[in-house]
Amino acid sequence: MRVGHGFDVHRFTPDRPLILGGVTVPHDQGLLAHSDGDVLIHALCDALLGAAGLGDIGRHFPDSSAEFAGIDSRVLLRRVVALLEERQFGIANADLTIVAQAPRLAAHIEAMKGNLAADMELPVERVGVKATTTEGLGFTGRHEGIAAYAVVLLLDE
Ligand code: MG
Repeated sequence: MRVGHGFDVHRFTPDRPLILGGVTVPHDQGLLAHSDGDVLIHALCDALLGAAGLGDIGRHFPDSSAEFAGIDSRVLLRRVVALLEERQFGIANADLTIVAQAPRLAAHIEAMKGNLAADMELPVERVGVKATTTEGLGFTGRHEGIAAYAVVLLLDE
């Protein structure tokens, strides 16, 4: 078994959709990024790559590359899953936390879990997605951006 951890942050910016776990969440701001800014999927990709000893998302999908400009992060996740499959790694489970003061995310969690489970080819009960605020503290508390943490367990098949 191999454990992996991922962390990512993106800052809010006006005039972009807010996409988390492949779900477009209604909000007055989105996340600034070279890709679609899906901070949750980026943390998940880093956890998967880290567990497999394959570096990080920036190494595989550099933000200097036009190929990845505005890309749907679910495409990146599916590419990461394919890299793991090539190396005979299975995914046991993934547990993710979104840190955001706003918007409220409870209504969107199930849809996020469904997207991530589909992309990882896992039953949905093996994917955990939680959301928390920081009680107004720090950069997330000041509505400056969103952070995400991911922990995964891989099975060396
Ligand atoms: Mg990122």
